[in-house]
Amino acid sequence: MILPAIAVRPKGVGRLRAGHPWVYRTDLADTGGLSAGLVGLADERGRGLGTALYSPASEIRVRWLAPAGVTVDGGWWRAMITAALARRGGITATAYRVVHAEGDGLPSLVLDRYGDYAVAQLLSAGLAAVQGDVLAAIRDVLGPRGLLLRNDAPVRERERLPRGVELAFGEVPERLEYSEGGVRLLAAPWTGQKTGAFLDQRENRALLGTLARGRCLDAFAYQGGFALHMAAGAAAEVTAVDSSAEALAVLAENARLNRVTTVRTVEANAFDWLRVAAAGGEHYDTVVLDPPAFAKDRRSLERAIAGYKEVNLRAMQLLAPGGWLFTASCSHHMQRGNFFAMLAAAAADAGRRLQLVEIRGAAADHPELVTVPETGYLKAALLRALD
Ligand code: SAH
Repeated sequence: MILPAIAVRPKGVGRLRAGHPWVYRTDLADTGGLSAGLVGLADERGRGLGTALYSPASEIRVRWLAPAGVTVDGGWWRAMITAALARRGGITATAYRVVHAEGDGLPSLVLDRYGDYAVAQLLSAGLAAVQGDVLAAIRDVLGPRGLLLRNDAPVRERERLPRGVELAFGEVPERLEYSEGGVRLLAAPWTGQKTGAFLDQRENRALLGTLARGRCLDAFAYQGGFALHMAAGAAAEVTAVDSSAEALAVLAENARLNRVTTVRTVEANAFDWLRVAAAGGEHYDTVVLDPPAFAKDRRSLERAIAGYKEVNLRAMQLLAPGGWLFTASCSHHMQRGNFFAMLAAAAADAGRRLQLVEIRGAAADHPELVTVPETGYLKAALLRALD
């Protein structure tokens, strides 16, 4: 098959050579009225640069897939997904990310497995144009009982793609049970956040399961992934705070599933709740702080940093002497440097001496490429109060 060819300007070629798969609109020569789908890339002298996905309406106009000479067809998608699956070989949890988009060399494709079921997100117009091949490859490699497309993600608007949740094939129930280190958890694939659960924190939840003790707090708890792991460990009691009644309803189901009776749920704005608890002189031996992305873009970063600092400051005030604080930020725009500077400012204001015990990130099934910073959005730290 002969693909339409487009020329990449030198700046775009430089980015590709530096190992980043995106070419922006401004780094392309005129592409005329080309429609979404596969394209061949060349530099301005006509030398082939490989095959890419083309999105006519997006600022990220091109996403590189394969070098020149490699045919991107059904067999290619199958081979790429098979290779990604093989990299997850050691995972014992029954739910994990099979394809982490750019991190697995498959830009704009997210594929999560929940036991016998699969949930995918197709996040670019170029990818949507080859959906037939992609879905067939997922079916061939995973053979799931059903595949759900969570194509309701807001980024699809930047691609001028419709947003919606759609069953690609088979059947997918409202709740999917999976197990993580002996803890049974439910995902809500049709209505929950992301593909129904936050799989990126899996290894961190396991860590907290081994560390947690005494009075525990899970702030921004969602469906209680951390809370349940702490309760299954040595926690005496766990308070789980979230503003979403729907998420807390699943958390309660999760608690029943594990016959756990030590988790108390609180539906509240965590900002208010943490402030009141800190002002009341309360103390917790283990605190988990996993807020949503406050910085949605670069412009909102300053306000977002203030938000992160506020909740971290309160969490630090709540820490009992010797207590553990696991704190995370999933906002891509909040970079590692910002994150640790924010923690330092919060610790100074809280007047606490905190040991940085471990720098953490997303689980290994969310590969972060050194040349593609966007693949590494989750930053986390395990801190311990020294006095
Ligand atoms: N720790 C969870 C994921 C947390 S996601 C896990 O491991 O599965 C972030 C959560 O923060 C979401 O459940 C969302 O409902 C909640 N949230 C967002 N803003 C909030 C606020 N102001 N107060 C309390 N919860 C909030």
